Amino acid sequence: MSTNLDLHDLGVFELAAKLAAGQVSSVEVTQHFLNRVKSEQLGAFLATDADVSLAHAKAADVRLAAGERTPLLGVPLAHKDVFVTRDFATTAGSNMLANYRSPFDATVVSKLAQAGMVSLGKLNCDEFAMGSGNENSAYFPAKNPWDTSRIPGGSSGGSAAAVAARLIPAATGTDTGGSIRQPASLTGITGIKPTYGRCSRFGMVAFASSLDQAGPMARSALDCALLLSAMAGPDLDRDSTSLDMPAVDYATDLIAASLSHHGDSAQKQPLKGLKIGLPKQFFGAGCAPDVLLAVRSALAEYEKLGVTLVEVDLPLTELSIPVYYVIAPAEASSNLSRFDGVRYGHRAANYTDLTDMYKKSRSEGFGDEATRRIMIGAYVLSHGYYDAYYLKAQKIRRLIAQDFQTAFTQCDIIAGPVSPTVAWKIGDKKADPVANYLADIYTLSSSLAGLPGMSVPAGFGEGGMPVGLQLIGNYFKEAQLLGAAHQFQMATDWHLRKPEGSV
Ligand code: GLN
Repeated sequence: MSTNLDLHDLGVFELAAKLAAGQVSSVEVTQHFLNRVKSEQLGAFLATDADVSLAHAKAADVRLAAGERTPLLGVPLAHKDVFVTRDFATTAGSNMLANYRSPFDATVVSKLAQAGMVSLGKLNCDEFAMGSGNENSAYFPAKNPWDTSRIPGGSSGGSAAAVAARLIPAATGTDTGGSIRQPASLTGITGIKPTYGRCSRFGMVAFASSLDQAGPMARSALDCALLLSAMAGPDLDRDSTSLDMPAVDYATDLIAASLSHHGDSAQKQPLKGLKIGLPKQFFGAGCAPDVLLAVRSALAEYEKLGVTLVEVDLPLTELSIPVYYVIAPAEASSNLSRFDGVRYGHRAANYTDLTDMYKKSRSEGFGDEATRRIMIGAYVLSHGYYDAYYLKAQKIRRLIAQDFQTAFTQCDIIAGPVSPTVAWKIGDKKADPVANYLADIYTLSSSLAGLPGMSVPAGFGEGGMPVGLQLIGNYFKEAQLLGAAHQFQMATDWHLRKPEGSV
């Protein structure tokens, strides 16, 4: 069937339309993507089970046959391996959880399943979502489909690689300090981290609970909007930090904008009146010239769409790195204390007594980066250092959040690069944790503030590698971000480019 040959070039929206029109079945679509996943060489997947996926697809076909027409019904996706799933093992990229089977699904996973999405399995990531290059996975690094000698970004590296290579039309990711936006940027796909609390954290293996947030990764803003509409919403019984705000339909306005797009001259400046703020700290010498060039041309495109650019000040941007790398490890050291070899997770084979069992199980189960963060976290929380490090970091975190509020009095959306460079070579930063931490400079501050942010494909830089434009919104402004990204994507085709060799 000739249509099947290019099914993987279709996004979520187009696939759903074909399924709803009965032009293809979910089983056919699922089988097509499963075949691609089976032969993937990118290290994107950690777990698959064709029988389980096809069973999901059959169930979707039954719903379709019964006349149900919901926007995601029958469309495949895969989950970052920090979401617990009943149907597939969940490892969080760690040996600590090798072969772990959860007795329940994460809320985000069950919401997407209820919406009719078909899970193709679990995606590689940095151990406990700690990293910026997917090299901290205990299993194998994921590779960037634009150049397989390079990292796909992290920690949602498997999600990004798989979507960019069209192994799946969409994926879930999690973002604690940039892990949706940065891999999206480095692989040329679209990703959104919603406002902290917008999606339930129930069933997400915890890294830093005051920062962790789930979000969709797909090729377009419209596809992200479709997924986020299903993922978001309160879950107060199970995650008391989930926002008590009703779920929002993020997609309908975007679809309407697409329909009114063609040939309407009044629509030439659809973003007239929108102000985009450019923090001078995001455009300094720390950003590589090729990245700046792509970001600036994307902003020039926004001006054509009617946007006014203004300069804003986020004076504490530099401090976001030390602040984040105190707070995130502090929370991680507490969260990871549950892995003691007793209830679940790795237990050492030989030990002399209980303390020895704890020590050996944890030493064997955790990789270097998780161990490093547990040590830093325990240190900054310990008596005598708590005030000097942890409390001080919390105070600066508050100031960082206030600076954003000041900036948002002058603009609607803040924009800049996502990552200071394009994707680096696998191995280049592996031995240097600080070099990895510094690469997070543009994503950490909005995470600390709990703000929504996204990465939108904006062009290419050194080595022909993708560059993302970051859009940061005020609290609860996901719809505005997605709308602005969608307008950009109707005017450009960066998000449609595909890596050669991804077939
Ligand atoms: N790169 C950051 C870190 O290593 C962010 C990770 C994330 O967002 N999960 O902590």
